[in-house]
Amino acid sequence: MKLLASPEIWFVCGSQHLYGPGPLQQVAANAQKVAAALAASKQLPLKTVFKALLTTPDEITNVMLEANHDANCAGLILWMHTFSPSKMWIRGLTVLKKPFLHLHTQFNRDLPWSTIDMDFMNLNQAAHGDREAGFIHTRMRLGRKVVVGHWSDPEVHARIGAWQRAVRAWHDWQGSKFVRFGDNMRQVAVTEGDKVATEMKFGFAVNTHGVGDLVAKISDVGIDSKAVEKLCGEYEQLYAVAKPLRRGGARHAELRYSARLELGMAAFLEEGGYKGFTDTFEDLHGLRQLPGMASQRLMGMGYGFGGEGDWKTAALVRLMKVMNAGLPGGTSFMEDTYHRAPTGHQVLGAHMLEICPSIAAGKPSIEIHPLGIGGKEDPVRMVFNAPAGDALNASLVDLGNRFRLIVNEVKAVKTPQLPKLPVARAVWECKPDFKTACAAWIYAGGAHHTGYSYSVTTEMLEDFATIAGIETVVINAGTTLPQLKQDLRNNEIYYHLAQGIKV
Ligand code: MN
Repeated sequence: MKLLASPEIWFVCGSQHLYGPGPLQQVAANAQKVAAALAASKQLPLKTVFKALLTTPDEITNVMLEANHDANCAGLILWMHTFSPSKMWIRGLTVLKKPFLHLHTQFNRDLPWSTIDMDFMNLNQAAHGDREAGFIHTRMRLGRKVVVGHWSDPEVHARIGAWQRAVRAWHDWQGSKFVRFGDNMRQVAVTEGDKVATEMKFGFAVNTHGVGDLVAKISDVGIDSKAVEKLCGEYEQLYAVAKPLRRGGARHAELRYSARLELGMAAFLEEGGYKGFTDTFEDLHGLRQLPGMASQRLMGMGYGFGGEGDWKTAALVRLMKVMNAGLPGGTSFMEDTYHRAPTGHQVLGAHMLEICPSIAAGKPSIEIHPLGIGGKEDPVRMVFNAPAGDALNASLVDLGNRFRLIVNEVKAVKTPQLPKLPVARAVWECKPDFKTACAAWIYAGGAHHTGYSYSVTTEMLEDFATIAGIETVVINAGTTLPQLKQDLRNNEIYYHLAQGIKV
């Protein structure tokens, strides 16, 4: 995956000097064992490293400052093996800028009933220390994830793993750049937003280039260049290329043009250090086709993408791709159409062309057909079915005073035959049901563009929203409209006041 970093998570254990040097050595040794177990866990995507046993306000503050400055530290796991009076932590936690998870565990899984004595209880005091820590986190209104359970418990690893995926994606966003080729689709509201607020809140920058800059880069790729030749060969190896598009076919020149689009766009993104992009069919001056397959292929490499200038979705797709790195099941940009049969309402995700091959079930075919809008030549596109299975849609919207992340859990089903719709497609059923989910989505202001994923979970997205300090609206099997509407009203007040409560 393009530009994917593997930062570290620092494991930090809190204690104090009350216990004397012997027990503190024991605490440090135990903490190292816990950190090593997390480091060795296959459920955790990032390396956990034991950083320190902290026993004084100065030690705590220094490690937090160090974490802020270390570009390779993406977040911290905090655990209080013993009591660690939490006023000691105020200064450090005030300056900490990295996400943290509070692991509420205990070194011994079982209490040794027949031998337990006062020394044992004093040493294994997370029930005290972690509650003291939890109080100060809550008192300081710090967003964090709390994970409870023994450190060997696979369920604990799964919770920490989801958080690490969110942390990795957050880390990926910091300082990243997204490019817009052209502006927004004319008159569209949901794809707009405050790019200054975005950079302040999320840490990534969005800037535009006239499509002419891209056209120049594409023109640099000679139509008969070796690179185009090689890429067309790669297409024929990887995909079922339609006969007219193959070498020697009547429309092979159009496949070559699509390869040229891909190479030019890839060069532009590579040189600019971009992690994603948008385009719009209303601004394609100098391009012969809408970049269909080129956008699909670039998404397949890990770039974020949003159509019609939708930079928030482009960034979200990238975020979700980083979250699901290494997991089976992919993530794509998505747009929908409804099936409202009395026997069961479904959603067809297939609106236009730009669906990522990471969600393809089987070998995609490469075809060329008219688009119907945009007034350009027929675009080459990858056609495939997405698999059945659990999935979700997510949308990030700008409400003017804040951002809201909306998530709908869905169940993808087998795709029917669509002989007249030659685009990549997925079909799903919404949770809790179509009518409730769509009403909830619309009340929440969710966009018609989403990030669609088989491997990103609601938990990962909620962990991300906690790190970012933004609102999440989850629409799942437990959603009811009266409660959702009340939550939206409550959130209006909470998020309006939260900054004030924080300081
Ligand atoms: Mn659209």
